[in-house]
Amino acid sequence: MSGEVSSLDFAPLSEVSALPGATNVGSAIGLYARQTAGFDERVARTVEVLKQAAADFGPGALQSTSLGVEDMVITDLIARHGLPIALATLDTGKLHAETLALIPRIHDRYGIEVEVFAPVREQVVHFVRANGEEPMYRSVELRKACCGVRKLEPLSRMLAGRTAWITGLRREQSANRAEVPFREDDGHGRTKINPLAEWSWADVWHYVQQHVVPYNPLHDEFMPSIGCAPCTRAIAVGEDFRAGRWWWEDSSKECGLHATHAEPDSPSATESEPEASPPTSTSGAQA
Ligand code: SF4
Repeated sequence: MSGEVSSLDFAPLSEVSALPGATNVGSAIGLYARQTAGFDERVARTVEVLKQAAADFGPGALQSTSLGVEDMVITDLIARHGLPIALATLDTGKLHAETLALIPRIHDRYGIEVEVFAPVREQVVHFVRANGEEPMYRSVELRKACCGVRKLEPLSRMLAGRTAWITGLRREQSANRAEVPFREDDGHGRTKINPLAEWSWADVWHYVQQHVVPYNPLHDEFMPSIGCAPCTRAIAVGEDFRAGRWWWEDSSKECGLHATHAEPDSPSATESEPEASPPTSTSGAQA
């Protein structure tokens, strides 16, 4: 495929509009979508970054999608421009049902299969037996160990044999990501490509509105960054985009997938910490 594909070539909009999260009444679209100066130019640069990735890396390039709204925008651009870039995601076993529902929705909308990488079952069973089902609240070490088993190990299989991976990182997402470039070395011999590096949150939702991009309805519930269910909560007005991730920690809010944008943990975060009580509710943080 090549050239821009009309959205009419995708699933009928009537079907898409009927999907949860596709309306803009009381939704993230209604709250955040805004066209700002330079939007069309930013979209054009993103398309160029994606086209160049396909040209430079061929089948070595992969979109590693978290199924978050930024990644859904990238998937839409890949489909819309007929780029030969494969998609894969991680199913940690702890994702919200709303997140997993996007996998068939991507297929229905764009005709693209998303390859799913899950953790090794025996490793999960062993980890849960040793530490309990939700040990992440007890220490940063246990949280990182859980991310290691459920995310980093399957990610290493996902990226095996690939030379480039495409992510939805944006500079605006957090202080750690303020310098995200379009292209960078991931520290493991691959190129990491961040085509939305310069996009704002308003840009993302304006694009979603313009192109009727399917998205996770949890974004409508004040969750800008959606990870595993036990480790994601809604944020309050004025909080950082990633404040709802591992909110009980005083850490860099990174799980290791994007280690180049994680600050080294403070000694108090890497050495043994006093146990913290598991959070009992997330609703108090909702705006
Ligand atoms: S985000 Fe939470 S549940 Fe998911 S792998 Fe990391 S610690 Fe485990």
